[in-house]
Amino acid sequence: MDPIGVYLHIPFCRAKCPYCDFYSLPGADDVMDRYTDALCARIRAAAALYPRRAATLYFGGGTPSLLGAARLCKIIACVREVFPLDGAEITLEANPGAVTAGELRALARAGVNRVSLGLQSAAAEELAFLGRQHTLRDVENAVSWCRAAGIENISLDLMLGLPRQTKASLLRSIEYCAGLGVPHLSAYLLKIEPGTPFALRHLEALCPDEDGQAELYLFAVEELEKRGWRQYEISNFSRPGLESRHNLIYWDCREYLGLGPGAHSFIEGNRWFYPRDLSGFLALSGPEMAWEPEGPGGEFEEYAMLRLRLTEGLVLPDAAARFPGGAAQKVFDRSEPYQKAGYLRREGDRLFFSPRGFLVSNSILARILEG
Ligand code: SF4
Repeated sequence: MDPIGVYLHIPFCRAKCPYCDFYSLPGADDVMDRYTDALCARIRAAAALYPRRAATLYFGGGTPSLLGAARLCKIIACVREVFPLDGAEITLEANPGAVTAGELRALARAGVNRVSLGLQSAAAEELAFLGRQHTLRDVENAVSWCRAAGIENISLDLMLGLPRQTKASLLRSIEYCAGLGVPHLSAYLLKIEPGTPFALRHLEALCPDEDGQAELYLFAVEELEKRGWRQYEISNFSRPGLESRHNLIYWDCREYLGLGPGAHSFIEGNRWFYPRDLSGFLALSGPEMAWEPEGPGGEFEEYAMLRLRLTEGLVLPDAAARFPGGAAQKVFDRSEPYQKAGYLRREGDRLFFSPRGFLVSNSILARILEG
């Protein structure tokens, strides 16, 4: 059986960023202790149902580093006991300023070999606008502490489309990342989620409009590629061979197990999730997973949509082997007008979006997948 990806959601943040609607709460020590035990109980229960090897383990959040090294190491040991992790990529999302050199050493010893840090911007005024509490010194410390602990596979998050962000300020952030020499970057367009403090204050009015966002995105793709980070997904860039193995599991529509409030799973053709409810998760007991069904998954349309997020795109022989019956060929046929318009490209058996195509991929997907 193929190995799975394991995602563990750590729903704690020091403070809530005013644009974010990820499920996260302030974490008191006793709650984090109880959460660690609850997560370990679910990990064991899941392994009894799906005894597999794990190719990846990913701590996402929230701010996983806030849980502290001792609790995180306990969770890794628990995963290792029931899902063999030999050769696995083990990623920790961390906020610069919320992690120490000693903790990173302990985590590296426990097997963490990839760290993803939320830089967002190297411009102080942009960080202040986002309400982020770290400084650039925190980022530099975190990167050098990771390296001192033997963790070279470091990713930084950058945000695009911030209020008053210009190509010049974005370029300074990109050059800052280049100066740090990290092998992976994620560059996301700021999305102000409904109901967040930013949305209630209508701060989207200060952000670049759709054309401005598109310009910043295309500029980022070009400048990142010039500096050796190859775009491999709409928002992700890496040195060759250092793509996020965990996220590639999602984009290749392979199986993963997600544990924690708000986490989603896809196993044996079915999708499930845990509601965004920490108390409910803490109260779970017994061998039942008690997750909410989300229906079947992994059909051709979903596979094609996910593959087309990747610059590798949809590969005809692979798709045909997984979904016999000609569905992939139809997508290639329907894509011709969009190839002529420069939104999609075809190279041999591969169909993929151009950077400009990624910006309008949703509407094109709706047409080429449904005919
Ligand atoms: S953006 Fe990150 S650090 Fe800020 S509240 Fe959301 S999950 Fe927490």
